[in-house]
Amino acid sequence: MLRLLKFLISSFFTIRGRKYDCLDLTMTLTIANTTILEAQYVASGETISTYGSCQSAAVPTSSTCRVLGVVSTSSTSNVHFEMWLPDTWFGRFLGVGNGGLGGCIDYAQLDYGNTMHFATIGSDNGHDGESGLSFLNNPEVINDFTHRAIHVEAVVGKQIIEAYYKKPHSKSYYLGCSTGGRQGIQSALLFPDDFDGIVAGAPAVDFNHLLGWTAMLNRFVGAPNPENSPTFIPLSLWPSIAQEIMDQCDSLDGLKDAIITEPDDCDLRLQTLACEGDMGNTDGCLTTAQLEALDKIYSPLLGTQRQVLYPRYDPGSEADGDFAAMFNGSISSIPADWERYAVQNNASFSFADYSIADVEYTSMLDLGGVSTWNGSLTSFRERGGKIITYHGRRDPGIASGISKRLHALVSTALSSPSHPNIDDFYRLFLIPGMGHCSGGQGAWAFGQGLSANVVNDTEHNVLLAIVDWIESEDFKAPERIVGSTVPVDGGEMVERVHCRYPQRSVWDVNGDVFGCV
Ligand code: CA
Repeated sequence: MLRLLKFLISSFFTIRGRKYDCLDLTMTLTIANTTILEAQYVASGETISTYGSCQSAAVPTSSTCRVLGVVSTSSTSNVHFEMWLPDTWFGRFLGVGNGGLGGCIDYAQLDYGNTMHFATIGSDNGHDGESGLSFLNNPEVINDFTHRAIHVEAVVGKQIIEAYYKKPHSKSYYLGCSTGGRQGIQSALLFPDDFDGIVAGAPAVDFNHLLGWTAMLNRFVGAPNPENSPTFIPLSLWPSIAQEIMDQCDSLDGLKDAIITEPDDCDLRLQTLACEGDMGNTDGCLTTAQLEALDKIYSPLLGTQRQVLYPRYDPGSEADGDFAAMFNGSISSIPADWERYAVQNNASFSFADYSIADVEYTSMLDLGGVSTWNGSLTSFRERGGKIITYHGRRDPGIASGISKRLHALVSTALSSPSHPNIDDFYRLFLIPGMGHCSGGQGAWAFGQGLSANVVNDTEHNVLLAIVDWIESEDFKAPERIVGSTVPVDGGEMVERVHCRYPQRSVWDVNGDVFGCV
């Protein structure tokens, strides 16, 4: 009884102490070019008002001290950040990234990091909201987006840790996907001392070509007006296209399971979809003009010199629910905003004549070094940094082939007789059946974010895998990552091993299981 009383009294004073330590940060924190806007201790389950226009509220899963502030990055730009400092802190620092052209502090990932006992910081990437309008007439906002905001997170976050916990962090980590994946690679290239371990999912690297590719896919199908655009494929036809592709390629991996393990093995024969006598779209068939558009979609994007600018759309991705934005006949907001507000710096820029020449111009300009297309990771590797990257094989937003190309780029830049490959610091895991960063038929949950059914050990959780690689006595590098499916209709959860590239995922008929060779 006495012991319980002592524990309760001690817990009361500990929490009370944390509350005051947290509140004190508004008075005691002094960081160059930085204003602390708020410091608030939040109990688990309590609703907080969030910063920015992207969402209005969040509910921390675990108690935290949240610190909100703004860093002046130039006379015309600033980065808003929010840091969550967990009660039970394991000494680690975590920075998290953004998505699209965002503009949004990633509260879900703040919550995830905090729950996993990392002191975790996220930022608004230098502007508020999903739109690229803030890039107009402001190159410094572009610089925050292309390479500066994550560096700000690292500089500020490490100082806040020292002020709150009264000791420095032990190791530093980064977690991001899509634009967040690009930010992770950019950090390793430009600020190699910022993070010890980086998890960079579906990286939006080769950014200018990625956005050009996205825009050109819509140009290939044209506007949804049959009279002006015989190449346009009505969205109602895509299910039959997806079914035909699945029929042709699902079994190539040895198992008919609605997952195309290796889309690059899928040698499409799209003529099977041709309408007889070219009489128009009856019974889900396609006209010659539509088939020509399909052929361009499932081929790499070529430049004016016939060079490959970007890999092809992964067959199987059209089965993902998010695919429609790629082929609905209008250029989606991410490439449109980047071209209009950043590249052209002209809010009324028209896409009527947009072509490969525009893609190449955008790439040549490479505003703020946004391309993030450089294999020179020598400094990061030599100081002991490690990168895990992953990519879904049915990603309808960023073709997974780009992660293979990035692996080749880094390998080519860094291979030497003493280092014949890059396995000592850089590992890529391709995830069959996963969509953009998460979701899909495949075993897509492996700790890239908070997911209920992931076992939190180094084999199943990619964030813990990078921690193990950096911190374990024998620097245990991840050979495989085990993912879990997330059944939406109460079905059975299934695990599947994901292989370290260039190993391949191969079906073992006798073992009734996928393995890596
Ligand atoms: Ca299959």
